[in-house]
Amino acid sequence: MTVTATSGVGGVTKRPLVAFKGVGRTFGEVEALAPCDLAVDRGEFVSIVGPSGCGKSTLLRLASNLDQPTAGGIEFATDSIGYVFQDATLMPWRNVRRNVGLLAELSGMSKARTREAVDEALATVGLSDFDDHLPRQLSGGMKMRASLARSLVLKPEVFLFDEPFGALDEITRGRLNLVLQDLFLAERFAGLFVTHSVEEAVFLSTHVVVMSARPGRIVAEYDIPFDFPRSLDLRYTAEFAELAGAVAKSLEEAS
Ligand code: ADP
Ligand code: MG
Repeated sequence: MTVTATSGVGGVTKRPLVAFKGVGRTFGEVEALAPCDLAVDRGEFVSIVGPSGCGKSTLLRLASNLDQPTAGGIEFATDSIGYVFQDATLMPWRNVRRNVGLLAELSGMSKARTREAVDEALATVGLSDFDDHLPRQLSGGMKMRASLARSLVLKPEVFLFDEPFGALDEITRGRLNLVLQDLFLAERFAGLFVTHSVEEAVFLSTHVVVMSARPGRIVAEYDIPFDFPRSLDLRYTAEFAELAGAVAKSLEEAS
């Protein structure tokens, strides 16, 4: 494995938390992901937009270390990785508290520490009053809050999101974007976020990456310069519309 160090402040060398180096993935005859380079460091929130089937979920599975590339390699500077899927995948027989504590329980965290971490995570996502509810008693947005909280309990340094809000209505999605922004500002993880929504990508991110149709290649990258914290009203400004328009145009050309 090659290690490319970038120069940090004061001559300290530092590696990004995750770095894709010519990473590709082929399934039999199908090239799902063409070799790509992508680095995400602490305090960066990178969104990936691209047409359906272009390899976005493949890229996230590789970043989560659940799957291995068939070309290139991924360098991790941490093994603390959290993953949130589009489907909240809560266990129907466990209440919110026990669902949110699940990963902590599996990781061997003590009962007392888990209780504390779950309380904190529930408060962060606004679910403190629902800790004894079962998943079937929750709305789609609340299920997703619980799913976020479950990963949050382990304080991941790299946080991966695969279209987590794709199934939610516009208003709920906006609210959860604010919850996610708060998490990001509090924890400063390295975020890698897949979405169909250009607006959501530009709103949340420090960088947006556009992928082409299969085999997915990175065809455009945008720095998103807006200061944090961002209010939802940012979406209605001319500056935002201009940037989102440029990303949308790249996406159209890539599809
Ligand atoms: P996206 O998330 O962008 O919609 P995916 O990463 O899920 O796309 O899939 C990219 C391509 O790779 C698709 O054509 C899909 O059928 C194929 N693919 C993904 N996973 C597998 C797999 N485990 N086996 C075979 N083909 C796969
Ligand atoms: Mg996908």
